[in-house]
Formats: sequence, structure tokens, C-alpha cells
Amino acid sequence: MRLSEVNENHTVVISKVMGHGAFRRRITEMGFVRGKEVKVLKNAPLRDPVEYQVMGYHVSLRREEARLIEVVSPEEALHYIEPTYDGTIDLETLKTSAGVKGKEINIALAGNPNCGKTSLFNRASGAKEHVGNYSGVTIDATKANLHWKGYSLTLIDLPGTYSLTAYTPEELYSRKYIIDETPDIVVNVVDASNLERNLYLTTQLIDMDIKVVLALNMYDELVAGGAKLDIEKLGKLLGIPIIPTMANKGIGIDKLLNKVIDVYEERDPIVRHIHINYGAEMEKSIKALQKVIREGKPAPARASSRYLSLRLLDKDPETTKIIDDFPNAAQINATAKKEIERLEERLDDDSSHLITDAKYGFIAGALKESYSKGVRRRHAITEQIDKLVTHKIYGFPLFLLFMLATFSATFTLGAYPMDWINAGISWIGDLIRNGMPNGMLKDLLINGIINGVGSVIVFLPNILILFFFLSFMEDTGYMARAAFIMDKLMHKIGLHGRSFIPMVMGFGCNVPAIMATRTLRNRNDRLLTMLIIPFMSCSARLPVYIVLISAFFGKYPGLVLMGLYLLGILLAVGTAKLFNRTIFKQKETPFVMELPPYRMPTLKNTLLHMWEKGSQYLRKIGGTILVAVIAIWALEYFPRTSPQAEHFIQQKQETSTLFQSKINAHPEHAELLIAERDSVLHHLTMAEESSRIENSYIGRMGKAIEPAIRPLGFDWRMGVSLLAGLPAKEIVVSTMAILFQVNDDPENSHLLQEKLQTERYTSGPNTGKPLFTPLVALSFLIFVLIYFPCIAVIATIRRESGSWKWALLTVVYTTGVAWFMAFLAYQVGTLIIG
Ligand code: GDP
Ligand code: MG
Repeated sequence: MRLSEVNENHTVVISKVMGHGAFRRRITEMGFVRGKEVKVLKNAPLRDPVEYQVMGYHVSLRREEARLIEVVSPEEALHYIEPTYDGTIDLETLKTSAGVKGKEINIALAGNPNCGKTSLFNRASGAKEHVGNYSGVTIDATKANLHWKGYSLTLIDLPGTYSLTAYTPEELYSRKYIIDETPDIVVNVVDASNLERNLYLTTQLIDMDIKVVLALNMYDELVAGGAKLDIEKLGKLLGIPIIPTMANKGIGIDKLLNKVIDVYEERDPIVRHIHINYGAEMEKSIKALQKVIREGKPAPARASSRYLSLRLLDKDPETTKIIDDFPNAAQINATAKKEIERLEERLDDDSSHLITDAKYGFIAGALKESYSKGVRRRHAITEQIDKLVTHKIYGFPLFLLFMLATFSATFTLGAYPMDWINAGISWIGDLIRNGMPNGMLKDLLINGIINGVGSVIVFLPNILILFFFLSFMEDTGYMARAAFIMDKLMHKIGLHGRSFIPMVMGFGCNVPAIMATRTLRNRNDRLLTMLIIPFMSCSARLPVYIVLISAFFGKYPGLVLMGLYLLGILLAVGTAKLFNRTIFKQKETPFVMELPPYRMPTLKNTLLHMWEKGSQYLRKIGGTILVAVIAIWALEYFPRTSPQAEHFIQQKQETSTLFQSKINAHPEHAELLIAERDSVLHHLTMAEESSRIENSYIGRMGKAIEPAIRPLGFDWRMGVSLLAGLPAKEIVVSTMAILFQVNDDPENSHLLQEKLQTERYTSGPNTGKPLFTPLVALSFLIFVLIYFPCIAVIATIRRESGSWKWALLTVVYTTGVAWFMAFLAYQVGTLIIG
């Protein structure tokens, strides 16, 4: 607990003093150090300051300050240590437990995007967070615990930021975290191959006056580039200990953790607080501001007056908010305004620019003394590759080529394991078919669960392959290039290249893609990107494509598949244009696109990322899909009879009697006649089952919507499949597998594809004609691509946009467009084919 929470007349022992800089010095000088006992003398609620007794002296602390002192109370001590004699806790025990608790260290990882924070986090903690070679993967902070040399460490992976100026949501988040949560140590992860830019963030951490350890990551690249860095020297210059690391291989992490503990225990010789020199004029302004800030309140516990002054001169709105709490806020703001005006007039530049320039000057100076550039071979290669893949003319077809390769591989490579899985599923099906008595349970198992779940699970290999390629493109850095070449195009539809990455993520799953839009600065940009992501064909739609494409477009599957994805992209573009003209009417704000150097990702990383998604898919099959499959099976299984049941029984009896008399008349043809009779009976049974399904609950639902989808070439069973796909689109396939199993002929293959090819209309004017033609299949594919994404996506849009309005718009708009496009495809196709 915190000292501020301790009640009057209680004695506790200090386990940790948080906060930093001047505050920390003052507080330790007063005697507030780890292991010392403190008695609370007066702590009236709402009263500030609070009175304490420490080391025999009476001292008072502001509540805000007391909040930064962590203590162990006798009750809490029980968690840390076994009481020696029945329940009583003496001072010694309390002190020991304070020692144990004091060994809990909170560590925040801060650094630029792509500097390897997540890799380091994973290596240190054994977690499996996704690493990728573009910004915007980590939005929230992830936490992990580990034990190291008798300490309990909590690691927090903060979002990647170039600075802490609170310009983007990630920056704001990281900065708030560092200031409000007061981590004990900030590990500043720095990309060694790009020191100059990465150290910018370091300068801000220096200004904040907190305990920092610098992880000089990608040290291998610095060495490979032939550069030389005097690590010791740079550390001394910055006042921050530096440990070289190679996070992707796990090298240097041990040393880093040891150093963290040294710094925490205040026994590292390098640590010192330095002041970056902002130049004579700026320093004068800082002094002036510090003076008024100190008049308002004694130096605030969580941020030094120098830091606050600098942030004010930087025109930082967040700091202005902090200042509003000061009794002399007006005076401080007036001084800040006056000083900014003075500076800008003197130096003829924006005061924030002046601060930035000074920081870069500081970095340049530090590097000049410690760093010598090598011949940068790696970047030469990067430049060569970039010349090609971001080329004005070749860039785009190359991108298409990569995508085509991805989709073709998804198909061809996926076909082999798919056969194996299919064989396995049939084997299990046969086992139950032969080994179980007929009845409802058997029907549920075979026609419901195995058929339905099996038809979805066979696509796991395809989905894994798709994810493998997408992860590989992300991890190498190619995705950032794809975003770059798309930037111009994206501008044409009123979006930035930056929106492209969430869009590509949408190919995997729309839900995280919509969440990834959080990295977009402008709210309209965000909303618009969110609304067009459902057009990016997610992996749940892939099973539907594969079934229908391999059944009806077997000659050029990759091309049709890519065509669907492209149609989705085109619709996204069209929608963006439309909404931009009508709903948003936004202006563009310019911004720079990063091109991180290429990296060969480790196979392990890429496989790991692929597997994360794959296991999510399996979980979905075990959850939502299983439930839906059982529900759909039940809707189809009941009621057991139909109005025509009597009619069929009668017909069967008549057939039997008829054939019996024929056999009696011509016993020499008995064998032939029996075969003929069985075939007629089989067809009657099938027709009976069809009519029963038509009368089942699901059949009635399908019939009800049939008029609406008939113009698209669909029958009621396809309608049912589409309805069933609302929770998740894979269910479209498993529903078809359940609905079309009536023809299940043990002689035939169990493949759904083959069933679809031979399926015929069971009612209406087309009875007996093939249900699916390539045209109908196409129309169906288009509909599945576009209509209602899934319940999770709608819920995510609602949550991320903060209103039902946008979620409902998505529901109505996507389904409307789906109907229209499928209608167009079917009707125009019919006209052409005749
Ligand atoms: P984050 O954005 O800071 O979380 O960075 P990630 O951990 O996602 O890493 C970005 C990329 O850099 C990944 O492809 C990593 O495999 C790679 N990477 C991480 N550390 C190193 C390193 O020390 N050396 C090299 N060569 N690559 C690294
Ligand atoms: Mg990360």
C-alpha cells in the first residue's frame, strides 16, 4: 500500500520510494528510505499535509508525495512472509517483508516503433507478443512478470513512439504511463542502426529526470554496418548506463536485467542526472518559468519544475492541464506566453522547433564524441531494393505479383494437408456410422458436428499459409513499402498510406484491423478506415471461396481468388470516395511515411505469428462455430415429420407391391427387378428427406427470405447458409455441408465440393435443374465477400467509433452493396450467357 493510505497511529515499514529527481533527494534526506519504520501521527481525510514520525523526527508530507512512498503494513506482511509465532508480527518481521516487497521492480520499455521492444519483452519474459516491422502493432501496453536474481520484475511493453510530445495517442499513452504510474526503471530501447533519431526520445527521458537504462538493440546491425561506438563514453555523456542487445536472438538480455537491478539499488556509477543545454536564451526562459512554478507549489512530486517549464515552452497542452491545478496558474501561463513570445522574436523561430533543434544538437554532439559511421552496406542494399519495389511503374505490378503468389500458394500448397484432414474426418465419420446405433445422437454427431466442424477445420492449412505470407511481408518490412506505394492511391480516396496497414491486416481478421485504426491521428481518417475494412476479405471467408472456387472454377483458382480480394479492395476504394464526398468532407493533413530498413525475420518469429492466428482460428471453431453448427443441425433436424410424409410412405408401399408382383410374374428377371426397385426406393427416400428439410424450421426460414434472394440466383438453402453465416462466415460452409448432405451416398466422396456440383433444385419452376452454375457460384461468392461482416466486427465498430450509428451503417451498407453486386453479376451474366 501507499503511505498516503495508512491510518492514524499505525506503524508501517517503507518498501520503496518512487518518484525521482529533486523530490527523491529531498524525501530521502528526510529519512524516508527503504526498511525504515514510519508512524502516522495525523492523517485526517481531506487534510493536507499529513504528519509522520520517522527516525525520531516529526515531519509532514503532502498527500501527493506520500502516495509515492510504498510501505508494508502488518496485514500485508503476511503475504510476504510466514509469521514466526502465531499471527503476531513484530517490527523485525515487518522489516524483512519490506525487504521482500522492495524487491519488486516495475520496468517500462519505451522506444521508437520497430526498435525491437516487443522482441526484447518476449525474450525477457517468455511471452509471445507479435513482433512486426512496421509501426502500429502495439497499441496497448502489455505486461509480464519474471523473476530474476531474487527480484520480481514487472515488464511493460509501451507502444512505440518517436517522442513523448503527446502528439499521437500512443505518445500520450506512454507519457501518461511514465508520469502517472511512476515505473521504477524505464528501459529505453534504441535501434543502434539509427542512433540519431532514436536518441531523441532519450533526450526527453533525460528531461523527465527518471531512472533509465538504455538497451542498445540491433547491435548486430551497428557492427555489420562497420560503425564504431564507444558505449562507455556515450553512457557517461548521457548519464545513462548502456547495454548492447540483440533482442531477436536474446543476446544481452541478462546483462540488461542485471543493470536494471544495479540502477534500482542505486549502485551504478554511471547514473547521474544531466541537464541538456538548450542555449542561453532558452535557459533564461526556463529559469523564469521555474521561478513562478515554484512560487505556486513546492516542486511537484511527479515532474520537476525544469521539465514542466520546458514542456510549457514546447506549447504542450497536457502540461497546461497540469498547471491549471496550481494556485497561480494564470501567472504561470502568462509568463510562459511572454517567454515564448520573447524567444520567438529573438531567435525568429517557433519555440518548439528551437527545443527540437537543441535536442538534435545535443545528440549530434554526444555522437561526435563517441561514434564513427562505417560504410553502411546494409542501407545500400535497402536502397537498392527500395528503388525497385517502390518504383513509380514497377512497384505496383510487383505488389500484385507478390499478392498473386500468396494466394496461389494458399491454394496449391494447402491442397495436400487438406486431403489428409479430409481423409481423417471421413474415417472418423465412418467409424461412428458403422459403430453406433441409429438415432438422434448419431445424426447429431455425423451430420451435425463432424460434417459441420469438419468442413471448416479442413481450411486450417490454407489459413495458416495465408498468415505465413502476410507475417513474412510484415516482418521483412515489405508491408511498409506496400503502404508507401499505396500512399498516392490512398490520397486519391482521401486517406493516408498509414490506413493501408490496418486494411491489409483486415485480410487476416477484420476485428484487430479495426482496432489498429487507433494509430490514425485524425478522427475522420479513423472512422473512414474502420468503415471500409469490412470490404477487406478476412480469412473466415476463405473457406467459402475455396469450396466454391474448386467446385466451379477449378482451372484458374488463384486468379478468381485474387479477383475477389481485388473486388473487395475496389469496393473499399469506392466506398471511401463516396463517404468522403458525402459524410466526411475532410481535408488532408500531410505526414511522413517511415521506411524502416529491411530485415530478414527469423523463421521462428514468422511461424510464431502465424501460429497465434491459427490457434485463434481453432478456438473459434471450438466455440462460436461449434455452437452454431449444433443450433443449425437442430433447426434442420426438427420437426421430424412433414405434411407429405404420409404420401411418401404410401408411394413406397405402392412401389414395393408393384415390384413384388412384377417379380412374381417374371422370376427369371428377379435380380434386375430388385436392383431397379431399390434405386426407385432410394430416390423416394431422398425426395422424402428433401421435403422434410424444406418443412424443417431452418427450411421455413430459408423459404421466407427466398423471394429476396431469387434475383441473385440463390435458392432457400443458400439463403439459410447466408443467414447462418451472420455469427461467423465459416459457418456458411458448415451449414451447406449440413443442408446438402441429403444426397450423401456412401459410394461417393464426402467432399462438399462434389455435392455442390451435382446439387439440383428441389422446388419451384427450376425443379430438377442444377442448382449451381458457375454464374450462380460467382454471384454467391460476391455476396459472401461483401455482406454483413460478422457480429464481432459490428461490435468492434460500435466500440471503437463510440456509437451505434456507424455499426448500423455498416450493417445496412454492406448488405445492400452485396445484394446489388450479386444481382448485377447474376443478371448481367445471364444476359451474356443467354
Ligand atoms: P517493436 O516495434 O519495437 O516492438 O519491435 P519488434 O520487436 O516488433 O521488432 C521489429 C523487428 O526487428 C522484428 O522483425 C525483429 O525480429 C527485429 N529485431 C529485433 N531485435 C533485433 C536485433 O537485435 N537485431 C536485428 N537484426 N533485428 C532485430
Ligand atoms: Mg511492438
